[in-house]
Amino acid sequence: MDAGVMISFEQALNIVEEKLAAANLNPTTEVLALGEACGRILAEDVAADRDYPPFHRAIRDGFAVRAADVSAPPTVLHLLGEVRAGENFAGTVGAGECVYITTGAPLPAGADAVAMVEHAERHGDAIGIQRAVRPGENVVQQGSEATAGARVLPRGRRLGAGELGLLATVGKSPVTVFVRPTVAILSTGDEVVPVEQRPEWFQIRNSNAIALSAQVAAAGGIPRRLGIAPDRLETLRAMIQEGLNADLLLLSGGVSMGKYDFVGRALAELGAEFYFQGVALRPGKPLVFGRVGGKFVFGLPGNPVSTFVTFELFARPAIAALGGASFEPAVFLRARLARPFQQKTGLTAFMPARLERQSGDPVVSLVGWQGSGDLVGVAAANCFLVVHPSETNRAAGDWVDVLPKPS
Ligand code: AMP
Ligand code: MG
Repeated sequence: MDAGVMISFEQALNIVEEKLAAANLNPTTEVLALGEACGRILAEDVAADRDYPPFHRAIRDGFAVRAADVSAPPTVLHLLGEVRAGENFAGTVGAGECVYITTGAPLPAGADAVAMVEHAERHGDAIGIQRAVRPGENVVQQGSEATAGARVLPRGRRLGAGELGLLATVGKSPVTVFVRPTVAILSTGDEVVPVEQRPEWFQIRNSNAIALSAQVAAAGGIPRRLGIAPDRLETLRAMIQEGLNADLLLLSGGVSMGKYDFVGRALAELGAEFYFQGVALRPGKPLVFGRVGGKFVFGLPGNPVSTFVTFELFARPAIAALGGASFEPAVFLRARLARPFQQKTGLTAFMPARLERQSGDPVVSLVGWQGSGDLVGVAAANCFLVVHPSETNRAAGDWVDVLPKPS
């Protein structure tokens, strides 16, 4: 593909997804205790070890009853005893009888509902029930959440707090997860110096490597910072080669058309197959995606906001896929525009903005920023306003897409 050829944002995303799917990735696995597994990708299907709930479970404190007995209240029932959560009531609730029951306790045999304690009056063993109770009321039926053997989590699912709670519920500990992909991060540019170094007035600190490391970790990868490659073809090529030891290589800078932008050439010399080299995006037009010796490579633009945004759009789902998860590109939220805007760039634009609730609606307003180098603007933002090529004129109050800013 010619360096000058640009494809749309959606086309680029499709290409990344297709190429990753075609690569038939099969990451290795490891076994972790649940306490270690947050953010990891499940490598096995997980089934319910028994019915959930395991028994007809009371969800209110009250009296286990036969609903037929209390269909025409008020009714007085005879109290047989009580069953607390963690206990089992040995007897059976017969006609005209009830058992005091607490939330989380198994419904005694014979009973089919729970009358709430708030709707009952107790006089010794005589329980007055004031309200009608439907069969099954205040009870979650055994097996209604999952039956024994049913799959409750599929392989490839990311383990967040809710999923880990579910694994704990079904006793799935330890758990088999995919090994996280390693992601090499290589900054390029003669003007770029390490953060620890005092820059000359014409130099800038390597902010991209730090931001990308955080993004890689959040995406489920293990970042490996390779330092800064100068704008010299041979050194750059050697450092790229080192980066190809990782599962994925991220380069920043050097992908434009300038005289010293050597990333494309260095990759080509190493035998890269290029899938695209330009995307109709702002920021982020020069954006390289390809494969060298079996390893995927992104050449991200060097401007820090471009690097940040293009990572989120393309590298984040790619890292998830390399790590055994399904390919899930960013989902845009919808919000109302605070102020009108116009654009005729023909690009998909991502602009730092703030999303706030106003009178119950999400409302998005642009923050002031100086373009794709402006991390101050990004820091002031909590999202990016997404403007699609077709959206040339938008009025205040229109619904628009918003990309939440990752933490
Ligand atoms: P380039 O894509 O190499 O033309 O770089 C575009 C802009 O991004 C230039 O102003 C660079 O100085 C800046 N830049 C490139 N790499 C980095 C980096 N690692 N950290 C911060 N800024 C960078
Ligand atoms: Mg450069």
